[in-house]
Amino acid sequence: MKSTADVVIVGGGVIGASILFNLGRMGVTDTLLLEKDVLGSGSTGRSQAICRMHYSNPVTATMAWESLGIFTNFNEVVGGEAGFVETGYLVIVNQEDSAGLASNVAMQYSLGIDTMRVTALDLQDIAPMVSVNETEFMAWEPQSGYADPYMVTTSYVTRAREFGAEIVLRNPATEIEVSGGRVIAVVTAEGRVETPVAVVAAGPWSKLVLAQMGVDVPLVPVRHQVASLTRPVDKLPLHPTVGDIAQSFSFRPDGSSMTMMGFGDDEEVDLETYNQGVDMDVMADALGRLSRRIPAMEDAYFRGGWSGLFTTTPDWHPILDAVPGIEGLYCAVGFSGHGFKLSPMIGVTMAELIVEGAGKTVDISPLRFSRFEEGDLLGSSYRYRVLA
Ligand SMILES: Cc1cc2nc3c(=O)[nH]c(=O)nc-3n(C[C@H](O)[C@H](O)[C@H](O)COP(=O)(O)OP(=O)(O)OC[C@H]3O[C@@H](n4cnc5c(N)ncnc54)[C@H](O)[C@@H]3O)c2cc1C
Repeated sequence: MKSTADVVIVGGGVIGASILFNLGRMGVTDTLLLEKDVLGSGSTGRSQAICRMHYSNPVTATMAWESLGIFTNFNEVVGGEAGFVETGYLVIVNQEDSAGLASNVAMQYSLGIDTMRVTALDLQDIAPMVSVNETEFMAWEPQSGYADPYMVTTSYVTRAREFGAEIVLRNPATEIEVSGGRVIAVVTAEGRVETPVAVVAAGPWSKLVLAQMGVDVPLVPVRHQVASLTRPVDKLPLHPTVGDIAQSFSFRPDGSSMTMMGFGDDEEVDLETYNQGVDMDVMADALGRLSRRIPAMEDAYFRGGWSGLFTTTPDWHPILDAVPGIEGLYCAVGFSGHGFKLSPMIGVTMAELIVEGAGKTVDISPLRFSRFEEGDLLGSSYRYRVLA
């Protein structure tokens, strides 16, 4: 491992990987990425990886839309595969959230995002397998879908390595050394690396990494469950990706014969000891809701599942910023269960912040570190917070 670097990134999930690549793209190639386990072994490898544009705030909607442009042209823009599959994305809300849905769609439309409100009649053309009632309201994004989080992460890292980056696996950062108010080195299990810049992209572990320097960041790990279902392809060859706010869960196709369902009560857990499996009673309840939404799913069966961690902030939006008070320390943390779809633009804007002093392609100042103590939190149209 090198003993000096211009930038050290802590964390080899999709966020650290995207930042590493984008630094290289901007000419910062003397870089080092440290991963305590293997690439994608944190939240990234457990992600449903749904790429939707439906957000309540322009900053995240814009990042999702710009990121979609990268996912769909990944080989040209980055190199390698993202595994993106266009399925269309349907948001379903009930009466109490209908005004929020309308204002979100209007905001997204004003940003040039390909989205529209649709009716039950429209669904007969778009998604005839989906059943809704007269108290439910919908929006449709024809270009949205899902990608492969592991492929995206490894593609970013492969290209970054070609630019000159070094990636060291199974080597945790144990300390970020600060002297005179600035970062001077990162200490790892394998040795010490002198650097003026450290980027914390350690997912659910970020709170621990930052706490070691006395930085308190409001991150809470929340468990989210995923079930892999075999769907009856004879009756249901395909379905779109659906954010079912009315019933508090989501699902998407997974290849040609599987469906991936995300569900659960989003309970706060301990990040080292949480139950990484599926609660079968909670899964059965979610499968019942899915069967009401798509009656053909009554014949689906459970193939397996897992749980992963959302790293939540008080407003369920990430923190993308330099850490106040410590020169050279940056963080890209708190993705609150929706960071994968934003990851291409998080890499772009974090690299701009580090190299040029500000996110240029998208103004990321609404996601600044200090917003919590300033009481300037981002809002959401919904109570189903992951769809903030
Ligand atoms: C079940 C589930 C479903 C999701 N579904 C979606 C979805 O549909 N769409 C969407 O956009 N997002 C989704 N997300 C969220 C998305 O996956 C995350 O926001 C994203 O993967 C976060 O990436 P990350 O790189 O910040 O964190 P992580 O992937 O957790 O990566 C952090 C890495 O840092 C490493 N690390 C930690 N401490 C250290 C250290 N001291 N030294 C070195 N390395 C360290 C860890 O081992 C880990 O690999 C989902 C998440 C989960 C859990």
